[in-house]
Amino acid sequence: MTKIIIALVFIAGVTLIWRLTPSEQSLSEADLSLLINPDSTKQNGEMMEEKVIRTEEEWKKILTPEEYYVLRQKGTERASTGKYDKHFKKGVYKCAACDNVLFESDTKYDSGCGWPSFFTPLAKDRVIYEEDRSYGMVRTEVMCAKCGGHLGHVFDDGPEPTGLRYCMNSVSLKFEKKEE
Ligand SMILES: [Zn+2]
Repeated sequence: MTKIIIALVFIAGVTLIWRLTPSEQSLSEADLSLLINPDSTKQNGEMMEEKVIRTEEEWKKILTPEEYYVLRQKGTERASTGKYDKHFKKGVYKCAACDNVLFESDTKYDSGCGWPSFFTPLAKDRVIYEEDRSYGMVRTEVMCAKCGGHLGHVFDDGPEPTGLRYCMNSVSLKFEKKEE
């Protein structure tokens, strides 16, 4: 009888540790590349063009003050104020700084979080990731792979098929309508 109790306590302990551990970790790049739908690379087949490298002075001239704050200084627009939060027209979302095509309207959904949300980028090579430990949180920052501009963060509470939520700033995006 004692052995059974010890075994049960052990199982409960292991389960508890297992449940507590993953929530403390940010998503690794390896996790993300496994989760992102590989079919997304087939759409809009063309490869991403070469990187855009500019000085901060040049970016300041090209971008509006709001765009500069979010894209270059990793700022965040206030929740539910962005122009694409409740925007569901058919088309693509480009990087506001360099025109890199980042997301498609088919992968956009209403997460209710106050920022435009997508479950996958257009293709794996469109975005890059970095661990962000600011504000006492561990998050995964998402940046444009072409110009390095800050877009937002990715979380693991999104819908199928990836289970990811790319929580983006409207300011970092530029919508282009698709003719039907
Ligand atoms: Zn860009």
